Amino acid sequence: MTGTVGHAGESRLIDLIGGWIAAGASRATLRRVSAFRVRRNGRGASEHHGGTVVLRGPGDDCATVRTTGRTLLTTDAFIEDVHFRTRWTPAWMAGWKALAVNVSDIAAAGGVPRAALVSLELPRALPVAWLRDFYAGLLACGRRFGVAVAGGNLARGTRVACHVALTGEAPVRRVGRDGIRPGDLLAVSGSFGASAAGLECLRRGWHGGAVADAIWRHRVPVPRSAAGRALAPFVSAMIDVSDGLVHEAGLLAAGSGVALVLVPGAVPVHPAARSLAPRLGWDPVRLALESGEEYELLAAIPRARWAAASRAAARALLPLTAVGEAGPGRPGVRLAGWHGQVGGFDHFA
Ligand SMILES: [Mg+2]
Repeated sequence: MTGTVGHAGESRLIDLIGGWIAAGASRATLRRVSAFRVRRNGRGASEHHGGTVVLRGPGDDCATVRTTGRTLLTTDAFIEDVHFRTRWTPAWMAGWKALAVNVSDIAAAGGVPRAALVSLELPRALPVAWLRDFYAGLLACGRRFGVAVAGGNLARGTRVACHVALTGEAPVRRVGRDGIRPGDLLAVSGSFGASAAGLECLRRGWHGGAVADAIWRHRVPVPRSAAGRALAPFVSAMIDVSDGLVHEAGLLAAGSGVALVLVPGAVPVHPAARSLAPRLGWDPVRLALESGEEYELLAAIPRARWAAASRAAARALLPLTAVGEAGPGRPGVRLAGWHGQVGGFDHFA
């Protein structure tokens, strides 16, 4: 595919994107014949995906989706030179990540992701091939997590900016940041540190071995959608780790008005982060505490529900590790036995 966004023009781009979305939906149909039906409807497609769904997709002023019960809504920005660099991030991976970060927020709320709107600002000089690959990544993420792209918007911009809005089906029990009681255990899914290590390796131009693992983890995060759903019945609060574990723990402490004690040595460090930390001149535990864009879950779980939560996480094929607890005292986060500064990502720093 040759040419730029400026050459193609708006209506050609809309046709192209509509075709990519329809083709992506068809592939999903082939893979899930029993659960998923697609009916071509002019430029839009009607998709039935489990319960939802896109009754009418791109092509009208609004998409029409069917929702059941309570609907979760979330949105996140993915902006060139703020959240990614085209130099370091192949278009496919940028597309995957732009949707994945939203799926992660629905996972933190214990929900099932459903329908997305994708609003793009594109520079005129952007190759159409870049946009095609971006959409291929975004749609691959959609197929993996059951998200239908219901529509979006195009505008000219000075750099690539992607805003995704995503709906989700809420769990029976609402999951937020405000339910923690003293005595609850704090737990994390997966392991930490590789995303920040991968970003630093990209900055330094390193490759190979553990570097490749860390860079992959930074570029292609896998939101913990199944684990979020599996844990929802057992948690008192949950959040996804987009801006660093300690930072997110601070949001939970503030949201619930409790004191949280985090045990740094208990936080699982990703093997790639453990192997790269000495080469980077960093402390692996501090790296795990601060690393953003991990998209793991941090949950608070009443002790009586710990065993059931742990079994549920195992069924979702994700280890759950206890990393601290909630106690009485002023709201905030204390790191047990830790002396030094720990930060997180600040969007306006
Ligand atoms: Mg979040």
